[in-house]
Amino acid sequence: MYNTKAYAAFSASDSLQPFHIERRELRDNDILIDILFCGVCHSDIHTAKNDWHSTKYPVVPGHEIIGRVQKIGKKVSHFNIDDIVGVGCMVDSCQTCTSCQKGLEQYCLNGFTGTYNGKDKISGAYTFGGYSDKIVVQENFVLRIPQNLDIAGAAPLLCAGITTWSPLKNWNVKTNDHVGIIGLGGLGHMAIKLAHAMGAKVTMITTSPQKGKDAKRLGADDILISTDKEAMKSAYMKFDFLLNTIPVKHDANPYIHLLKTDGTMVFVGAIEPIEPIHMGLLIGKRRNIGASLIGGIKETQEMLDFCGEHNITSDIEIISIQDINQAYERIVKNEVKYRFVIDMNSLKQENKE
Ligand code: NAP
Ligand code: ZN
Repeated sequence: MYNTKAYAAFSASDSLQPFHIERRELRDNDILIDILFCGVCHSDIHTAKNDWHSTKYPVVPGHEIIGRVQKIGKKVSHFNIDDIVGVGCMVDSCQTCTSCQKGLEQYCLNGFTGTYNGKDKISGAYTFGGYSDKIVVQENFVLRIPQNLDIAGAAPLLCAGITTWSPLKNWNVKTNDHVGIIGLGGLGHMAIKLAHAMGAKVTMITTSPQKGKDAKRLGADDILISTDKEAMKSAYMKFDFLLNTIPVKHDANPYIHLLKTDGTMVFVGAIEPIEPIHMGLLIGKRRNIGASLIGGIKETQEMLDFCGEHNITSDIEIISIQDINQAYERIVKNEVKYRFVIDMNSLKQENKE
């Protein structure tokens, strides 16, 4: 077993605190990763605060993990010591069902194992995530990070990147399509960069007029302020595709008006019931509604390689693990530009004289 420092939430109302965990001995296909950086996703907060009513405490969040291979199991064949690697939202799935066979492990018919708050398929132990100094993961769920990418900025690709890449690819977004990204946060800012690099004409649809300048710098051609009724009217039927990253219950009907005939809006943010959708808005223009969960391992590697080719990383603010609770507050207050990433050296140095 490997003694591991971590930060955990012990209840929905408490702040995250130092915690000690043990990582398992390496199975034959396992990799021991020395964690260097870990991004802070809004899902970490939803889980720490038990918003989805499924949190098992103590929980160690973190599923945007970048690290260095420290040790490999006997049968590991694709990675070597010192490789820079990534781990996203999943660490296992059945790997045999029809979804897994298609490379869609996130839709595993037998349930994938989450990087945190999941249950190890062999030991039954709860999984602990990347707010820790090391992790053991089987090699099929470890990703290769292109060498030219800044490793701290690459961390958010493991969740924010793949969660926006997967729907853009699945719904065939292509050059000159009009794409609207709703919500400029961690997911939204990656979506702008990726859609722009795919050649789409990108509009940032935001509640925050002050983010307009940033949105243009990130690659948006246009800004639409969703609280401006006149501006929303003038964008009527403008879009082929909308990606909705709003993290809470909301009224999506005003956005449906923005879709062309046959256009599609895909939800990746709110997973609770939202305000009822007016079916007339869909039927009248053969519009579509979809939703999407993270992305499979193969497509995650494709996304990372694409980011390597186009030199795409996340815009980040690096924090120490000791600042995690303030970071959570700032994310909830919509004050992050556009992803916090924890430098895990701060954890390794904690309490060291
Ligand atoms: P984030 O950084 O907090 O960004 C969310 C953005 O949504 C905010 O910056 C804000 O942008 C906008 N927003 C917030 N509240 C709003 C409201 N009430 N009405 C309209 N817009 C609002 O969060 P994130 O990390 O990008 O995550 C977004 C959501 O995706 C979270 O719920 C997260 O759990 C979920 N998620 C889903 C998946 C998946 O697989 N489907 C994966 C990862 C995360 P503006 O200021 O521009 O309006
Ligand atoms: Zn996430």
